Amino acid sequence: MKFWFITGSQFLYGEETLKQVEENSLKIVEGLKLPFPVEYKLTAKTEGEIEKIVKEANFDDDCAGIITFCHTFSPSKMWINGLAMLQKPWLHLHTQFNETIPNEEIDMDYMNLHQSAHGDREHGFIGARLRAPRTVVAGYWKDPAVQERIADWQRAAVGAMFSRSLKIVRFGDNMREVAVTEGDKVEVQLRLGWQVNTWPVGDLVEVMNAVTEAEIDALCEEYAKLYDYDEKDIASIRCQAKEEIAIEKILVREGAMAFSNTFQDLHGMDQLPGLAAQHLMSKGYGFGAEGDWKTAGMTAVIKAMYPDGCASFMEDYTYDYKHELILGAHMLEVCPSIAAGRPRIEVHHLGIGGKNDPARLVFEGKAGKAKALSLIDVGGRLRLIAQDVTCEKPFQDMPNLPVARAMWRPEPSFLKGLECWLIAGGAHHTVLTYDLTEETLRSFARIFGIELVEINSSVTPVSLERELMLGDVIYSRR
Ligand code: MN
Repeated sequence: MKFWFITGSQFLYGEETLKQVEENSLKIVEGLKLPFPVEYKLTAKTEGEIEKIVKEANFDDDCAGIITFCHTFSPSKMWINGLAMLQKPWLHLHTQFNETIPNEEIDMDYMNLHQSAHGDREHGFIGARLRAPRTVVAGYWKDPAVQERIADWQRAAVGAMFSRSLKIVRFGDNMREVAVTEGDKVEVQLRLGWQVNTWPVGDLVEVMNAVTEAEIDALCEEYAKLYDYDEKDIASIRCQAKEEIAIEKILVREGAMAFSNTFQDLHGMDQLPGLAAQHLMSKGYGFGAEGDWKTAGMTAVIKAMYPDGCASFMEDYTYDYKHELILGAHMLEVCPSIAAGRPRIEVHHLGIGGKNDPARLVFEGKAGKAKALSLIDVGGRLRLIAQDVTCEKPFQDMPNLPVARAMWRPEPSFLKGLECWLIAGGAHHTVLTYDLTEETLRSFARIFGIELVEINSSVTPVSLERELMLGDVIYSRR
């Protein structure tokens, strides 16, 4: 994905000034060290140029967003038609070519050339007047902190573009009677672009039965490079490999980057996919258990934003009230990208699902700051809940719990954090991400116009209740 840089100007100051504007813009673009490339496209001087470049940006599948900056004054009426039809994420970069004001050099010509303080205000007005979803970043372009903020927005934009074309394959429906994993798939497609559709488990079994021994050998070699295991468990591991290969074949066939399944619908399968789902997540696929396609989709989006990052499907399981920690795990399916050490494949009995003992990766989650995300359907609209958490190294070895697990403490404090999560309606399933910044999160929600509920150190249950009431008024009108 690429980003397009468009500099705002006009003809008023003459050819010489426009030449300088273009040269400086190219230098700025060259100086931006970002995770995704930026291409200087144009110094915009007319309504026609702006409309044309916006149409091209909309049409270009590789363009993940536009960055605008007004080097000189650039009257905003000429931006209206273009910006009104913009369908790509927009960053308004409020910078200036020079960091300081030169005492000797400054005269009226200099002022007319370097007047983003003036031109970007006009540009900000039209963004506000159009109610356009945009991220505004102010600061000197060479400043690493400014570039970091542009990078944060880039990740949100790339995640948003990925989201718009995301397909999610469901094997089976949601776990019976569960409410929070339900949701309006039409609304989600309209808002986030996700295409969520179901394939019968029988289809998966058919594909599984056609997997060759050679294919299984190859995947098991990959497992051996990444994970430790006992040779005695190899039959069970090969069974997971077969499931993984079949699931991935269907995902590739359908162009899907996320999937869900459920232990209540494993007809014709030998094991609940454990290692299979875990290894697929580590390759970038989103996953949700018990038919939870919303968490599957969000996991995939976060993984698209941070391809080398640490993110997993997760579930809040049990509390330690004394140590103020949540123990998170799942029956099996936690992504090894969050592992503190080298994961181990183990085979143990699983009381749920009624199938053979499944092979799964066992490990402890990394310590560090993270966020727990939950996308819920609150009736006619979506709410994205994000809680700041601190993951800690589990302080017990829990020898009879052979699953991948993590322990964390939520913000603003353990108990208030739990209360806030429940008040907001967050699910027991989450995406646990160690990389996502609040700037990226906010830009992502802003691009799609969905409600974002952040539970961090400055939120209280009282302030949250008020915010949710406001959210009901604001978002129900859309
Ligand atoms: Mn679950």
